[in-house]
Amino acid sequence: MGTVEGAERITNRAIYPGSFDPITYGHINIVERALKIFDTIIVAVAINASKKTVFTDKERVAMIKDIFQNEPRVEVDSFRGLLVDYVRRKRAKAILRGIRTVTDFDYEFQMALANKSLDPNVEQIFMMTEGNYLYYSSSIIKEIVSLGGSVREMVPEIVEKGLREKLFKGKGSCSKRR
Ligand code: ADP
Repeated sequence: MGTVEGAERITNRAIYPGSFDPITYGHINIVERALKIFDTIIVAVAINASKKTVFTDKERVAMIKDIFQNEPRVEVDSFRGLLVDYVRRKRAKAILRGIRTVTDFDYEFQMALANKSLDPNVEQIFMMTEGNYLYYSSSIIKEIVSLGGSVREMVPEIVEKGLREKLFKGKGSCSKRR
Protein backbone atom coordinates (compact mmCIF):
# COMPACT_ATOMS: atom_id res chain seq x y z
CA MET A 1 0.00 0.00 0.00
CA GLY A 2 3.13 2.18 -0.06
CA THR A 3 2.30 4.44 -3.01
CA VAL A 4 -1.36 4.87 -2.16
CA GLU A 5 -0.50 5.79 1.40
CA GLY A 6 2.14 8.23 0.18
CA ALA A 7 -0.31 9.89 -2.21
CA GLU A 8 -2.98 10.11 0.47
CA ARG A 9 -0.70 11.72 3.01
CA ILE A 10 -0.40 14.82 0.84
CA THR A 11 -4.06 15.60 1.40
CA ASN A 12 -4.04 14.56 5.05
CA ARG A 13 -5.26 17.87 6.37
CA ALA A 14 -7.84 18.86 8.94
CA ILE A 15 -9.84 22.03 9.31
CA TYR A 16 -9.97 23.51 12.81
CA PRO A 17 -12.89 25.96 12.62
CA GLY A 18 -13.97 28.38 15.31
CA SER A 19 -14.58 31.94 16.36
CA PHE A 20 -11.12 32.26 17.96
CA ASP A 21 -12.19 35.57 19.54
CA PRO A 22 -9.45 35.42 20.64
CA ILE A 23 -7.26 32.34 20.19
CA THR A 24 -6.03 30.95 23.56
CA TYR A 25 -3.36 28.47 24.66
CA GLY A 26 -6.23 25.95 24.88
CA HIS A 27 -6.81 26.24 21.11
CA ILE A 28 -3.06 26.23 20.43
CA ASN A 29 -2.65 23.03 22.45
CA ILE A 30 -5.30 21.33 20.28
CA VAL A 31 -3.48 22.43 17.09
CA GLU A 32 -0.10 21.24 18.38
CA ARG A 33 -1.45 17.83 19.33
CA ALA A 34 -3.39 17.49 16.07
CA LEU A 35 -0.17 18.09 14.12
CA LYS A 36 0.94 14.67 15.38
CA ILE A 37 -2.01 13.13 13.53
CA PHE A 38 -2.44 15.36 10.46
CA ASP A 39 0.13 16.78 8.06
CA THR A 40 -1.54 20.17 7.92
CA ILE A 41 -4.04 21.96 10.11
CA ILE A 42 -6.04 24.80 8.62
CA VAL A 43 -7.16 27.09 11.42
CA ALA A 44 -10.31 28.59 9.92
CA VAL A 45 -11.88 31.67 11.44
CA ALA A 46 -15.63 31.58 10.97
CA ILE A 47 -17.03 34.86 9.68
CA ASN A 48 -20.47 35.28 11.15
CA ALA A 49 -21.99 38.74 10.76
CA SER A 50 -24.66 38.04 13.37
CA LYS A 51 -22.12 37.14 16.08
CA LYS A 52 -20.64 40.10 17.94
CA THR A 53 -16.89 39.71 18.28
CA VAL A 54 -14.20 41.81 19.95
CA PHE A 55 -11.75 41.28 17.08
CA THR A 56 -12.64 41.54 13.38
CA ASP A 57 -12.08 38.43 11.29
CA LYS A 58 -9.00 40.05 9.75
CA GLU A 59 -7.55 40.82 13.20
CA ARG A 60 -8.20 37.25 14.35
CA VAL A 61 -6.54 35.81 11.23
CA ALA A 62 -3.54 38.15 11.62
CA MET A 63 -3.01 37.19 15.27
CA ILE A 64 -3.22 33.46 14.55
CA LYS A 65 -0.81 33.83 11.60
CA ASP A 66 1.63 35.62 13.86
CA ILE A 67 1.42 32.89 16.50
CA PHE A 68 2.05 30.08 14.00
CA GLN A 69 4.56 31.96 11.82
CA ASN A 70 7.24 29.32 12.52
CA GLU A 71 4.98 26.33 11.90
CA PRO A 72 4.71 25.75 8.12
CA ARG A 73 2.19 22.95 8.65
CA VAL A 74 -0.39 25.37 10.03
CA GLU A 75 -2.40 27.44 7.55
CA VAL A 76 -4.69 30.23 8.66
CA ASP A 77 -7.80 31.18 6.73
CA SER A 78 -11.33 32.50 7.20
CA PHE A 79 -14.58 31.31 5.73
CA ARG A 80 -18.23 32.24 5.37
CA GLY A 81 -21.20 29.97 5.01
CA LEU A 82 -21.54 26.29 5.71
CA LEU A 83 -18.53 24.59 7.26
CA VAL A 84 -19.14 21.36 5.33
CA ASP A 85 -18.96 23.29 2.02
CA TYR A 86 -15.68 24.88 3.10
CA VAL A 87 -14.27 21.49 4.11
CA ARG A 88 -15.19 20.06 0.70
CA ARG A 89 -13.63 23.05 -1.11
CA LYS A 90 -10.40 22.58 0.84
CA ARG A 91 -10.43 18.80 0.25
CA ALA A 92 -9.81 18.29 3.96
CA LYS A 93 -9.95 14.88 5.61
CA ALA A 94 -11.70 15.98 8.75
CA ILE A 95 -13.09 18.71 10.95
CA LEU A 96 -11.18 19.11 14.20
CA ARG A 97 -12.84 20.40 17.38
CA GLY A 98 -11.86 20.56 21.02
CA ILE A 99 -13.88 19.51 24.04
CA ARG A 100 -13.54 20.82 27.58
CA THR A 101 -16.74 20.00 29.42
CA VAL A 102 -20.02 18.12 29.05
CA THR A 103 -21.53 21.40 27.89
CA ASP A 104 -19.00 21.49 25.06
CA PHE A 105 -19.76 17.83 24.38
CA ASP A 106 -23.52 18.45 24.10
CA TYR A 107 -23.02 21.32 21.68
CA GLU A 108 -20.34 19.57 19.64
CA PHE A 109 -22.41 16.41 19.40
CA GLN A 110 -25.39 18.35 18.01
CA MET A 111 -23.19 20.23 15.56
CA ALA A 112 -21.50 16.98 14.49
CA LEU A 113 -24.84 15.35 13.75
CA ALA A 114 -26.00 18.43 11.84
CA ASN A 115 -22.79 18.44 9.77
CA LYS A 116 -23.15 14.74 9.10
CA SER A 117 -26.70 15.22 7.87
CA LEU A 118 -25.50 18.00 5.55
CA ASP A 119 -22.62 15.89 4.25
CA PRO A 120 -22.49 12.19 5.16
CA ASN A 121 -18.87 12.03 3.95
CA VAL A 122 -17.54 14.54 6.44
CA GLU A 123 -15.48 13.11 9.32
CA GLN A 124 -15.12 14.93 12.63
CA ILE A 125 -12.37 14.46 15.19
CA PHE A 126 -12.72 15.62 18.79
CA MET A 127 -9.76 16.13 21.09
CA MET A 128 -10.12 16.38 24.84
CA THR A 129 -8.51 19.37 26.46
CA GLU A 130 -5.55 18.88 28.80
CA GLY A 131 -4.90 20.00 32.38
CA ASN A 132 -5.33 23.70 33.04
CA TYR A 133 -6.61 24.38 29.53
CA LEU A 134 -9.96 23.15 30.82
CA TYR A 135 -10.87 26.63 32.02
CA TYR A 136 -9.26 28.61 29.18
CA SER A 137 -12.24 30.09 27.44
CA SER A 138 -12.26 33.07 25.10
CA SER A 139 -15.27 34.60 26.85
CA ILE A 140 -13.86 34.22 30.39
CA ILE A 141 -10.55 35.67 29.19
CA LYS A 142 -12.34 38.72 27.74
CA GLU A 143 -14.19 39.19 31.01
CA ILE A 144 -10.96 39.00 33.05
CA VAL A 145 -9.22 41.58 30.85
CA SER A 146 -12.18 43.96 30.89
CA LEU A 147 -12.05 43.84 34.71
CA GLY A 148 -8.34 44.58 34.75
CA GLY A 149 -6.96 41.09 35.42
CA SER A 150 -3.99 39.43 33.78
CA VAL A 151 -4.43 36.60 31.27
CA ARG A 152 -0.71 36.24 30.57
CA GLU A 153 -0.77 32.52 31.23
CA MET A 154 -3.80 31.88 29.03
CA VAL A 155 -2.97 33.68 25.77
CA PRO A 156 0.15 34.65 23.80
CA GLU A 157 1.51 38.17 24.30
CA ILE A 158 0.14 39.51 21.02
CA VAL A 159 -3.37 38.46 22.05
CA GLU A 160 -3.08 39.91 25.54
CA LYS A 161 -1.91 43.21 24.08
CA GLY A 162 -4.79 43.26 21.60
CA LEU A 163 -7.30 42.49 24.33
CA ARG A 164 -5.97 45.23 26.57
CA GLU A 165 -6.21 47.74 23.71
CA LYS A 166 -9.78 46.75 22.91
CA LEU A 167 -11.19 46.13 26.36
CA PHE A 168 -9.10 48.03 28.86
CA LYS A 169 -8.20 51.23 27.06
CA GLY A 170 -6.90 53.92 29.36
CA LYS A 171 -7.69 52.00 32.54
CA GLY A 172 -4.04 51.42 33.47
CA SER A 173 -2.07 48.18 33.57
CA CYS A 174 -3.47 44.73 34.28
CA SER A 175 -2.99 43.37 37.75
CA LYS A 176 -1.87 39.83 38.40
CA ARG A 177 -3.58 38.35 41.44
CA ARG A 178 -3.58 34.66 42.29
P1 ADP B 1 -16.88 28.31 18.39
O1 ADP B 1 -17.54 29.66 18.54
O2 ADP B 1 -17.00 27.75 17.04
O3 ADP B 1 -17.24 27.32 19.47
P2 ADP B 1 -14.33 28.72 19.72
O4 ADP B 1 -13.24 29.63 19.26
O5 ADP B 1 -15.00 29.07 21.00
O6 ADP B 1 -15.33 28.64 18.50
O7 ADP B 1 -13.77 27.24 19.84
C1 ADP B 1 -13.29 26.53 18.74
C2 ADP B 1 -13.10 25.08 19.17
O8 ADP B 1 -12.07 24.98 20.14
C3 ADP B 1 -14.34 24.46 19.82
O9 ADP B 1 -14.41 23.09 19.43
C4 ADP B 1 -14.07 24.58 21.29
O10 ADP B 1 -14.74 23.59 22.04
C5 ADP B 1 -12.57 24.35 21.31
N1 ADP B 1 -11.91 24.95 22.47
C6 ADP B 1 -12.02 26.21 22.94
N2 ADP B 1 -11.26 26.39 24.03
C7 ADP B 1 -10.64 25.20 24.28
C8 ADP B 1 -9.73 24.72 25.28
N3 ADP B 1 -9.32 25.50 26.26
N4 ADP B 1 -9.32 23.43 25.19
C9 ADP B 1 -9.77 22.64 24.20
N5 ADP B 1 -10.63 23.01 23.24
C10 ADP B 1 -11.05 24.28 23.27
